[in-house]
Amino acid sequence: TAKKSIQEGQAEIRLTSEKVFYNPVQEFNRDLSIAVLSVFTKDYMEEKLTRALKVKKSEKIVNDATGNGTNPEIPVTILEALSATGLRSIRYAKEVPNITKIIANDLSEQAVETIKSNIVHNGVEDLIETSHDDACMLMYKHKHPSQRFAAIDLDPYGCPSIFLDSAVQSVQDGGLLLVTATDMAVLAGNSPETCYCKYGAVSLKTKCCHEMALRILLQCIEQHANRYSRYIVPLLSISADFYIRVFVKIYSGAIHCKKTTSKLSMVYHCVGCDNITLQPLGGFKPNPTEKNPQQTKGYLPAAPPVGEYCSHCNQRHHLGGPIWSAPIHDDAFVSRVLTHVQDNPALFGTAKRMRGVLAMVREELPDAPLYYTQDKLFGRVHLETMPMLTMRSAILNAGYKVSYSHAAKLSIKTAAPAQLVWDIIRTW
Ligand code: SAM
Repeated sequence: TAKKSIQEGQAEIRLTSEKVFYNPVQEFNRDLSIAVLSVFTKDYMEEKLTRALKVKKSEKIVNDATGNGTNPEIPVTILEALSATGLRSIRYAKEVPNITKIIANDLSEQAVETIKSNIVHNGVEDLIETSHDDACMLMYKHKHPSQRFAAIDLDPYGCPSIFLDSAVQSVQDGGLLLVTATDMAVLAGNSPETCYCKYGAVSLKTKCCHEMALRILLQCIEQHANRYSRYIVPLLSISADFYIRVFVKIYSGAIHCKKTTSKLSMVYHCVGCDNITLQPLGGFKPNPTEKNPQQTKGYLPAAPPVGEYCSHCNQRHHLGGPIWSAPIHDDAFVSRVLTHVQDNPALFGTAKRMRGVLAMVREELPDAPLYYTQDKLFGRVHLETMPMLTMRSAILNAGYKVSYSHAAKLSIKTAAPAQLVWDIIRTW
């Protein structure tokens, strides 16, 4: 018997047991995932179709009037590995175009029963299959290229890292991995040692901990992918409420994996002035003379370590990382997701928030990892805070770009040297 009904998007969910997890605060997460998947599945279909038609042409089996042959059926299969009520899968089935099949999986028997009844209640039996399995076991069964998913959604309690080894192997080339992490205390520096155990990186308690959390998760996914000669391309990385959510494409290519060290950095955090300096792990040396420009000419060793003491205040550094220090969003993709939300405001309960966050994300400087925060900068030197506009104008006047980060209200993101930022503060 149904205890409680919940309407979200085009789905109506009945919660038959309090033991099955439903979190209304995550509506923004689900809305955003639907918008991302809507744009992604369109691209995915087009890419696969172009490739399939090329193969058909080369096999000389073109036969229709256009010379293109009959359009091949492109399967777009999505796995929701940790589904709980099935709400997310049902919304994907009803709201994301182009999906041909969804598997909604959960380890809990009660959850699977709830998912089954919700599928029938929403009339989406033709699109969603249920599965009662351990998420990792299910994904390992799908690691063969012919069995892989177009997209896998991981939305666990807390830390997703135990699911990553199987997930990175079970997404198709050019497929999408959607990952939530809710263990923000670990990622934001409250237990750096636990963060190392779970994510393979030391977190730091800093003003920019939310973006650092995103970058720790991205490096963790990349590390897992690299083991199988695969690598990630981040499309969108969001910090919201009490969680983070990343959307990354997965590709195969051993040569591309050689570039990973140039996308990772250690983080030096000064305990005195709170300054942060990145130390890239190393470089990828492209060989311009090679026919294939991707061909590496070898490893470019990292620059000398940043050092034990801060050059601005002479206090000690804490060392954190490694973090992903390459871009965390794909600008063109984000713009298309934003346009999709603007064109379809009625589709999303959180449309206004989505527009705000995506617009901020689009403005973020791609080549300035992490950020200062205005309150922490001035708090450290016990000065009254300079107006944000004045601070930003000063940086711009000095010839450097500046932006906000969606992850913190008072953030100042810039590639300007820290020396310049301190000089501006000294003149205040
Ligand atoms: N994605 C859901 C949503 O948007 O409403 C919420 C998922 S809930 C946070 C996590 C779910 O993962 C729980 O229902 C739990 O039973 C399930 N779970 C935990 N460990 C699992 C495992 N190893 N394999 C499959 N499911 C698991």
